[in-house]
Amino acid sequence: MIRVVPDQQVRRQLHETLQSVPSEALARVAQYGTVLEVYDKNAQELPLYAQHLRKPHCDGSYSPTANVVFVDQSNVTPLVLLHEFSHALDMAMGEVSKQASWVDGCARALTTRTCIRPYATRNPAEYFADNLAAHMIEDPKLVGMLQARLRQQPGLDKLELARSHVNYSRGRQQKADPTAHQLCAELFAQLPTLPQAPPRPALTPDQYRQVKLAELRQRKQSQPT
Ligand SMILES: [Zn+2]
Repeated sequence: MIRVVPDQQVRRQLHETLQSVPSEALARVAQYGTVLEVYDKNAQELPLYAQHLRKPHCDGSYSPTANVVFVDQSNVTPLVLLHEFSHALDMAMGEVSKQASWVDGCARALTTRTCIRPYATRNPAEYFADNLAAHMIEDPKLVGMLQARLRQQPGLDKLELARSHVNYSRGRQQKADPTAHQLCAELFAQLPTLPQAPPRPALTPDQYRQVKLAELRQRKQSQPT
């Protein structure tokens, strides 16, 4: 599942981070064909799908087209990786976040402001990914994770980081957004019986470029002359 890592130390960090993920969820995502990649966001060359990393506040992302989760090498932390991994899990299960329970949960969290953080209410897919990530973090581990993130990126706004993650663990989520907590608990409990999307092997950088070129050509052809 790990396709690109700069060195063994980062590989160990990835393995450590993935220990928070229930094994059934890991198996689902692996079976779906998702791969994990770690890059230096300042490197001269990055695959086209990972260009997002060049944006100032992007430390990781998931490309549904390429089926690749990618993170910056100085941000291989649960706070980044678990969120992006959850987007892949969403797709691996046929976009669970589009089901009424998640869509309604997101709408409710937005109107009542009962949420783990405002970012989680951007749309149902973010509601799913952010809540699932928080649910995988045990309460006693949260402070250590925030400290580790600050060590990796000393330039981060300490207060902002603390404020945006004050509810970012399982027990805290239960108080901040009981609906999301229950949806996550049910999802993990029912994981073995939930549907699985057909496998979609991750695209290579070259295959991704071809797909994008084909899209571009098609768009040009359909434009009125
Ligand atoms: Zn997201």
